[in-house]
Amino acid sequence: MTILDKTKPVLVTGATGYIAGWLVKKLLEEGYTVHAAIRNPSKKEKIAHLEQIAKKEKGEIKFFQSDLMKNGSYAKAMEGCEVVFHTASPFKLEVKDPQKDLVDPAVMGTKNVLEQANKTESVKRVVVTSSCAAIYCDCTDLENTKEGVFTENDWNTTASLRYQPYSYSKTLAEKEAWKMSQQQSRWELVVVNPSMVLGPALNIHETTSESISLFKQMGDGTLKAGVPNLGMGVVDVRDLAEVHFNAGFNPEAGGRNIASGHNSSMLEMAQILHEVYADEYKIPNKPMPKWLLMLVGPMVNKTLTKQYIRNNVNKVWKADNGKSVRVLGAKYRPLKDTLVDSFRQMIDEKLV
Ligand code: NAP
Repeated sequence: MTILDKTKPVLVTGATGYIAGWLVKKLLEEGYTVHAAIRNPSKKEKIAHLEQIAKKEKGEIKFFQSDLMKNGSYAKAMEGCEVVFHTASPFKLEVKDPQKDLVDPAVMGTKNVLEQANKTESVKRVVVTSSCAAIYCDCTDLENTKEGVFTENDWNTTASLRYQPYSYSKTLAEKEAWKMSQQQSRWELVVVNPSMVLGPALNIHETTSESISLFKQMGDGTLKAGVPNLGMGVVDVRDLAEVHFNAGFNPEAGGRNIASGHNSSMLEMAQILHEVYADEYKIPNKPMPKWLLMLVGPMVNKTLTKQYIRNNVNKVWKADNGKSVRVLGAKYRPLKDTLVDSFRQMIDEKLV
């Protein structure tokens, strides 16, 4: 059991990110000194929200220039840290070159950060933000699970460079993390596996997270003809910050941890929003027929391939979040609250 020192700084890689923003906020509220490792500290617009929060809270923030693809680039940022939160990894679904744009930064980046942990004597725990994408590839994988539910024992075995490359990048990166953690004994690894993350962003105009672009489509008219009835899990970004925090500091934390508040679907989410906002916004409440999706899907979005549609549309997604509740104290808010808060922000920021 590792007891950690609250006065020691804590590293967050990819601190400019959508998920990391809320984690940094939580750490600052709790009085930690956050070493925020980011690609471009000179881009004021990427860090203004974090500086604002730090001004108000007990903790302190220091920025460091780091790139996943540059060896040794996390050395300064990790100095003196006992806990490292490794969240940085590209979350994009449509890319030109999946190896270069997704797999390399995810895998080489994880290697780079963990090699630095091996060299930094103060490090006792590393929390890696993996994904449910490393647990499953398609909803149809549910049929091959022991109890008809995804658990921490499941791995994505079918993603590849050609099919679901983002999921492939997350699977390979998490495997690398486990391999490297087993080759040493000073630091322990805790992995958080979130499902689709939604909820308000702290820097909505700067974030590149696919979470924001996917959600925006609910209200900007893209899906007015109907929503693909894709099964998926959802977790609120604010609840996920608490899960990450406990993964970092709870002495009992370990292993993989599914962080998912709700077993849901795009259709259910659209219907919840439709009830609240239908008078003002073009929110779909009907599924797009599978045959139509098969026809237009691949033209509209490169990731909506026939194989993907076949394996995920009108299929159930179900995961067991019990471990995160028991060990990481996860308290998942109602799905409606997450959706309404996200959509309200889109309206306020004139994005829909
Ligand atoms: P995000 O806002 O796009 O954050 C990604 C972060 O990674 C950004 O800070 C980005 O930096 C950084 N990054 C990307 N390439 C980098 C590089 N070469 N060197 C250094 N930093 C780099 O996405 P997010 O949704 O918060 O995702 C954060 C993590 O959660 C990722 O590991 C993602 O796979 C995982 N995850 C996300 C979801 C979800 O639904 N959002 C679900 C499960 C898991 P810049 O700001 O400089 O671009």
